[in-house]
Parts: sequence; structure tokens; C-alpha cells
Amino acid sequence: MAKVILILSDALRYDVAKDNMGFLGHLVESKIASLYKIVGELPSMSRPMYETIHTGVPSSAHGIVANSIVRRSAMPNIFQAAKDAGKVTAAAAYYWISELYNRAPYNRIDDKEVDDDSLNIQHGRFYTEDEYPDVELFASAAALARKFSPDYLLIHPMGMDYHGETYGSDSKEYHKHAIRQDMWLAPLIQEWMRRDYTILVTGDHGINKDGAHGGTTSEQREVPLFMIPSGQEGRGETGEVTSHLCIAPTVLNILNIPIPETMKHAPLSFIIHPS
Ligand SMILES: [Zn+2]
Repeated sequence: MAKVILILSDALRYDVAKDNMGFLGHLVESKIASLYKIVGELPSMSRPMYETIHTGVPSSAHGIVANSIVRRSAMPNIFQAAKDAGKVTAAAAYYWISELYNRAPYNRIDDKEVDDDSLNIQHGRFYTEDEYPDVELFASAAALARKFSPDYLLIHPMGMDYHGETYGSDSKEYHKHAIRQDMWLAPLIQEWMRRDYTILVTGDHGINKDGAHGGTTSEQREVPLFMIPSGQEGRGETGEVTSHLCIAPTVLNILNIPIPETMKHAPLSFIIHPS
């Protein structure tokens, strides 16, 4: 059974990930993983990109064009498609993810921990504070994986965004936090590989030296896409540039779920599910 974990590290910049995440670098160097560069969709803001990543359509099409738009997704998306196909869905994520795919506006008590098969995110663990420690978030996600073996699990830490916005992207705090995320994830990635997950690691947007994002510079929009495919080798550093728009069709393809017509971008080809 093909299963996917998407690690969406908020504000994880391409160059900083490549330079500082040594375990992921090892997987790329050993051709266990593949590394692509994503030139991110615009605007390079969080809520619009959460929706772009999960629907595979640009912001002007899905309508979540600013962080201030608080409503559920109105487009076919990974969580809804997976739930409708009878798959198990889960997320450990910032509360905006709950608002997009479960309920809006977010209720800090009722929506924080959900285990409800009728929801698009059936098993959810959410947080509201940007400084919520990533190591705790990763533990919640790992518990969801062990307890429910979800077919699709989203893991969404905010630490890179918090350190980048507080200290700027040229700071030792931002760079060191990439090392810490890689260090915390290394043993978990090994565990999830043993459990036959295909694992993707990416970012929603980058960040600049002023601690800002939203614009069009490479610092604000270039993020990595690491892919650790289950049951086959990776391609190492591909040198290829792809788009946020490929993520949703790629995830559904791995899960062997039909890709909705709204998702126009082709899934990454090397993991097309055997029919
Ligand atoms: Zn963000």
C-alpha cells in the first residue's frame, strides 16, 4: 500500500536547506532521495501556498490570495481526494491548515485534536503559536504515524519561518534551525522509510535577510523538494526545476488516486504508480 508523508517546513529556503540539512544531503548523495529546486508560486505567502500545494492550482484560481482569507478550500485537494477514496488522512500542522480543510474559523479547543473519520483531515493535531517547538510537533506527527498509519500525513513545522522572521535569513539562528530540523527528522525519516512511506520535504516559500517574504525574489520563492521514494532508488541531485503545482498530483499519483481535472501539472514522472 503506497503511503505519503509531506513535510512542509514553513519558510525553508532552497539554498539554506541544501547547505545545512546534512542527513537529507546524505540521502541525495547516496541516491536514496532526489532533490529538485522549486521556483515557488506567488505570492510567496503562507496560506496561499498551503492551498496551492494541496490543490495544485495557482492562487488566482483557488482564490486564497492572502493570509487574511479565512475559509475552507473550495477546490479538489489532497485531503478531500484521499478521504473520498477511503484513505486515512492526518496532519500535525499550524491551525490555518485546519481552517482550509476541516473547519473555519478555528476553535482553539474543539479543533486542536481531532479524530473524526468524517473530516477531510481525520486525525489532526494543530497549534496556533508561531514559536511552537518543532521538536514537539515532530513527536505529535510521529505518534500519528505509529498510531493510525495514515495514507497521507502532513507535517508542518513553523520553526524556520519563526527564526527567519525574527532574525532574518542571513542569521545564525535561521541557519542553525535548518540543522536542528534535519537532526530531529533523521531518525524519524528512517522509521518512516521502514514503514514504506514515500517522503517529500519542501517549503511553502523562502525568506529574505529582512525576515520578509511575499515578493518575487529568489530568496523569497525558491524552496527545495526532496523526495525519498518507497521501494525504488532516488535520482540524487537532479538539477531540475519544478513547481509547487506538481506536489498535489504527485501525492495523489503515489496514493493511486485519480488526479482531479483541476490539477493541470503533471506528477513527477519517475514515481508514476504502476497501473
Ligand atoms: Zn509560510
